[in-house]
Parts: sequence; structure tokens; C-alpha cells
Amino acid sequence: MVDVHDSIASFRSALDDERRRGRTVGFVPTMGYLHDGHASLMSAAAAENDVAVASIFVNPLQFAANEDLSTYPRDLDRDLAICADRGVSHVLNPTVEEMYPGGPVLTTVTVDRITRNFEGASRPEHFAGVATVVTKLFSIVGPGRAYFGEKDFQQLAVVTRLASDLSIPVQVVGCPIVREADGLAMSSRNVYLDEAQRAAAPVLHEALRAAATAATSGAPATDVRQVMIDRVDSEALAELDYAEVVDATTLEPVDDLGPGQRLLIAAHFGRTRLLDNLAVPVRAVDSSADRS
Ligand code: AMP
Repeated sequence: MVDVHDSIASFRSALDDERRRGRTVGFVPTMGYLHDGHASLMSAAAAENDVAVASIFVNPLQFAANEDLSTYPRDLDRDLAICADRGVSHVLNPTVEEMYPGGPVLTTVTVDRITRNFEGASRPEHFAGVATVVTKLFSIVGPGRAYFGEKDFQQLAVVTRLASDLSIPVQVVGCPIVREADGLAMSSRNVYLDEAQRAAAPVLHEALRAAATAATSGAPATDVRQVMIDRVDSEALAELDYAEVVDATTLEPVDDLGPGQRLLIAAHFGRTRLLDNLAVPVRAVDSSADRS
């Protein structure tokens, strides 16, 4: 059974009750239209906390005027069935008016530097919208742990940093990317793809894997990056946005392979932009260390 709250006050008071009984709260923020990727975060929250809770809120602050806010897919009944199945007991599903009464917020949260490149370059106001709503949700929920997918790797880095910078007492937990059988990272936006684009979309994961293989065989970072670019360029329906090898914490591009790095990639398929990422394999780090 899932208790659905459209009121912040009622959600907060339900969680206050749980905490008074000494129960730990694990939180999964989402924009709904849930798939197995979201469900994996919920399973982790339910396994690691006494109470698992989620939010379903399509946050207008993180969409630019020309983006897909009005067409973003929604299916609340199905979402709630998935929440129940994964052990989530309370869901916050507020209206925009409930979250932002009185219109545009005057107080926003911005995270510098790590938001400038990649998603931040393509979507200049996106991360301020994400950081603001996540901070607000942390304030509403007061979770001990909060679960985010590595699928949105830059977002995970931004949320980790904001919790640390603002001393929010929450442990931000990153969870592995859940993929379709052909390697495409699950995303609510995959429904926008037509048949040909859907068939082409696994090229992102293929490019990442080819780059990881190149890294393992000792190729320098520039070559590893070029492997991703060439693979995506070979797919007529994909238009590359970025492909980079970065430090996983600072998100700065690296010149040399080393520990704690990530391959980031994004491309357009028609009007749909998809992103993906992969850890630089540890063996690649070892082999480059051997050569130095
Ligand atoms: P969204 O509803 O797209 O805002 O995503 C909500 C959360 O689910 C975010 O932390 C995402 O990173 C995570 N998520 C989305 N897709 C996946 C996936 N394929 N695997 C793991 N986590 C995911």
C-alpha cells in the first residue's frame, strides 16, 4: 500500500511520525513515468532503510522554454503500482502550485564549475532548477539517504556536491545504470524515439564500450575520446553533442588516464537528446600506470 500525498504538510507529518518511531528514511526523487532504472533506486532505498519514500514531480524549473515540459510523459497509476511493488510506502506527488506557491521562486541554489560543461552547456538553466528542487525536497523529506542514478552522472555529482557544500545531513547514494537488453540506458525520454532512432540509440553504449576497450589496451585519453566520436559519427541517425573522458568528481576533462575517471557521452536522435556514461575500467588505469 502506498500513501500518496499531494500536500507537503501531510507528507512531512507522515515522515515525522516514522522518524519519531526511530525509523530511517530513504528517498528517491523522480519525475515519474517510472521504469526499471527508477525501480532499482526504490529497491535500494527499501533494502537499506526502514522506510522508502519517493517523489513524483515534473519540475518546471529545470526545463527551458523550448524543452519538453508540456509533453513530458506521465502515468501516475502505473508509477504508483511500481512504487508499491518496490516497497515504497509514501509518495509525494505535488502540483506545481503546491511546490512553488506564488509563482517563480526568488531563492535558487546554483552549483558552480561542475555545472558548466556537458549537460550544463546544452541546458544553461537546467542544473539551477535541479539543485533548487533537490534542496527543497531534502528540506521537505529530511532523508538519511537519497538515491540517484549514475545514468545522470553529472546530476549525481552536482547533488553530491550541494549536499556537502550546504552541510545537508543526507548520504547521497549513486546507483548503477539499468539498461535495455541491447544496451540502451533506460530513460523516460526513450518513448520519444521512432523505430529507426530506437534501433540506432544503442550506439551510445557501443561507443562507451569501445572506448573502455581502447582504454584497457593502454590508448591515451585523446584516442579514447576519438573512439567515441568516430563510433557515434558512423551512425547516420545520431548527432554527437559531447564525448569526453573526465575526472568523476570534478568533471574536468583529463589529459591522462588515471583512477576515478568516467566516459561521458550525449547525442541527438532527431529531437531527442540521450546521454550515457561508463566508468573508465580499472585495468586501463593499471596499464597506463605500468607505462609511466
Ligand atoms: P528522472 O525521473 O528522469 O528525473 O530520474 C529520476 C532518477 O532515476 C534519477 O536519479 C535518475 O538518474 C535515475 N535514473 C533514470 N534512469 C535510470 C537508469 N536507466 N538507471 C538507473 N537510474 C536511472
